[in-house]
Amino acid sequence: MMAIVYIGLGSNLGDRKKNCLRAIGLLKQNGLSVTRQSSIYETKPWGVTEQPEFVNMAVKAETELAPFQLLALLKKIEKDMGRQETVRWGPRILDLDILLYDDIIMNTETLTIPHPLMQEREFVLRPLSEIAGEKVHPVLKKKIGELLK
Ligand code: ADP
Ligand code: MG
Repeated sequence: MMAIVYIGLGSNLGDRKKNCLRAIGLLKQNGLSVTRQSSIYETKPWGVTEQPEFVNMAVKAETELAPFQLLALLKKIEKDMGRQETVRWGPRILDLDILLYDDIIMNTETLTIPHPLMQEREFVLRPLSEIAGEKVHPVLKKKIGELLK
């Protein structure tokens, strides 16, 4: 069954915009149908501040993959792209997160949907609200655009 998912992308190493765009290309190559794509946002690092600024984006896609299959694909893409660099614990070449998956609510050790920190992170909410401002968060019962404010 086809699901509608929102995926958050982030990069702060190398050609950050190109990394995000390449990841979107890889999502498509792996069968996801990307129907919306946010602008590219530059955001200040969060947590560890002694590292380059991040580039963040969000995409909307249709997929036949179940939640854990999608997570496995995202991790595979992160890993494949990470292999190009030798930095081990440095800043991130690519971070791919499942933000929303239809209106599914799940909380397991390896996968929580909606993404548990999205409502606290402006760098997630800003690109997401551009493409899903009217979408209601299934747990918080508020529109993404409202969560941004
Ligand atoms: P970050 O929290 O900064 O995204 P990682 O990308 O290293 O950190 O992710 C750590 C783990 O978070 C992943 O290995 C994955 O199992 C788990 N995880 C839980 N929920 C999600 C989600 N909604 N999307 C992506 N990863 C998730
Ligand atoms: Mg992640």
